[in-house]
Amino acid sequence: MQVPAPFDYARAESVDDALTLLQRHGPESRVIAGGHSLLPMMKLRLARPEWLIDINDLFELDYLVEDDNTVRVGALTRHATLLGSDLIARRFPIIVDAEKVIADPIVRNRGTIGGSLCQADPAEDLSTVCEVLKAQVVIRSMDGERVVSMPELHRGPYETAVEQAELLTEIRFPVRPRTGSAYEKVERRVGDWAVAAAGASVTLADDGTIADVTIGLTSVGLDGRTATRAEDALRGQAPSEDAFAEAARYAGEDCDPVSDQRGPVDYKRHLAAELTTRVLRRAVERAR
Ligand SMILES: Cc1cc2nc3c(=O)[nH]c(=O)nc-3n(C[C@H](O)[C@H](O)[C@H](O)COP(=O)(O)OP(=O)(O)OC[C@H]3O[C@@H](n4cnc5c(N)ncnc54)[C@H](O)[C@@H]3O)c2cc1C
Repeated sequence: MQVPAPFDYARAESVDDALTLLQRHGPESRVIAGGHSLLPMMKLRLARPEWLIDINDLFELDYLVEDDNTVRVGALTRHATLLGSDLIARRFPIIVDAEKVIADPIVRNRGTIGGSLCQADPAEDLSTVCEVLKAQVVIRSMDGERVVSMPELHRGPYETAVEQAELLTEIRFPVRPRTGSAYEKVERRVGDWAVAAAGASVTLADDGTIADVTIGLTSVGLDGRTATRAEDALRGQAPSEDAFAEAARYAGEDCDPVSDQRGPVDYKRHLAAELTTRVLRRAVERAR
């Protein structure tokens, strides 16, 4: 049985307390939220924190509210809460699409959106969703808070702009009228990580043409970026199967998958294109 290396443990009582503990215990301390990414890494000895700062009592970070055309989500909000939220289903069906295929109920009951974004795993679904929705995240330290975009948050695989003595506290999603969104994933078996996945958000103009569109892909080497050539090809167009097919072809060509146990490169490119077509179709239907 794999067990983590020994560590000390502190349970934070507030955001300020968590920040104080992180500062006191320095670089060898790590925040633990749901623990579904960090604990497996500790068991494999890929992470060896000397201190775990548990933030599970910080109910102040567990909320979903809409104000001023923005939905604000606390970093400690669980996958299961997002999946069951009427507000999220109404505003951002792409999040519900993604949550349905993230792991299983055990992981979804504990895993958090903040942990998912901070883990920055290239196969992680919510990062793509947040990129597609042009979310911003709030990062807090003892010195105050700053707001960064998703491309600024994710510096590379497993690397983020959240410094050691900082906490990601909130994710902000802009609400846009006449906008629909969708996510679709291919996995080898239920609850597995994506072989490939695609997400899209489409905003329609009054005349029904595509005013704006964002397309993100998971697990195929487009981390932290969106499929810009596909997006450019769609803007200003009337939604049609031909327009979706052209954009999908660009998405398949412009991603950069690697061959691994989940499949060869050409299969993943094919999936990226096919899933792009499907999410565009569904996002447009929802926008209407
Ligand atoms: C069997 C299994 C299958 C899974 N399948 C999928 C899948 O298909 N798709 C998918 O997207 N995910 C999947 N996951 C991952 C799951 O979604 C995790 O819940 C998520 O990646 C991490 O969330 P967490 O709250 O558990 O984070 P933790 O494991 O607690 O933390 C992850 C990292 O983020 C840091 N951190 C956490 N919260 C904060 C914060 N507020 N501020 C700063 N740093 C923070 C931690 O220090 C750590 O470095 C799977 C996990 C398991 C165990």
